Amino acid sequence: MKVELAVPAAVVESIAAIGRFASARGWVPATSGNFSCRIDAGSVAVTRSGVDKGNLGPADVAVLELDGTVPAGMSAETPLHLARYRADAAVGAVVHVHTVAGTVLSRLHASDGALTFSGFEMHKALRGITTHESDVVLPIFANAQDTGALAAEVEARLGPRPVVPGYLLAGHGLYAWGATMDEARRHLEGIEFLLQCALEERRLHR
Ligand SMILES: [Zn+2]
Repeated sequence: MKVELAVPAAVVESIAAIGRFASARGWVPATSGNFSCRIDAGSVAVTRSGVDKGNLGPADVAVLELDGTVPAGMSAETPLHLARYRADAAVGAVVHVHTVAGTVLSRLHASDGALTFSGFEMHKALRGITTHESDVVLPIFANAQDTGALAAEVEARLGPRPVVPGYLLAGHGLYAWGATMDEARRHLEGIEFLLQCALEERRLHR
């Protein structure tokens, strides 16, 4: 009999807190989105499939080995999380949301393969960017149901530590990460702010 590993209480609370944060903003509708947090060099905690991300408890989070297989009951997107941790040992948390701005803009710019933001003060929310006088290039990948293959494609293009800690899946949503859950949340909030600005600018220029 395989005994599931218990998730440390502090890790559960960290994931539950980002779930409440995203849910309160309408970023994880209809049980969408998923969140994960590194436990140690070889394992992470990931939210299970089909649960309300605004009300997460210990039973809604599972411990997975980075080099293991994904067990039943996990989100189909779990491979995208695991691949990010495997690519960069400094990644401590990965967050994924389905926002309106990210979904709409990723469809409009899917054929470009990226969305570029220029001149926003909010660029400085991203680690290592110290001025608004910069271009933030957010990659966009075609959505796919084979998330194992998609994860390989994503990581091949990103490299271990891309300048911009996030990417879009077209018609789907936004992934972001950081060294800690706090940093992942700041990156998520900053990128989502940029997406909302870009969407609003498109409306005004129509
Ligand atoms: Zn998703």
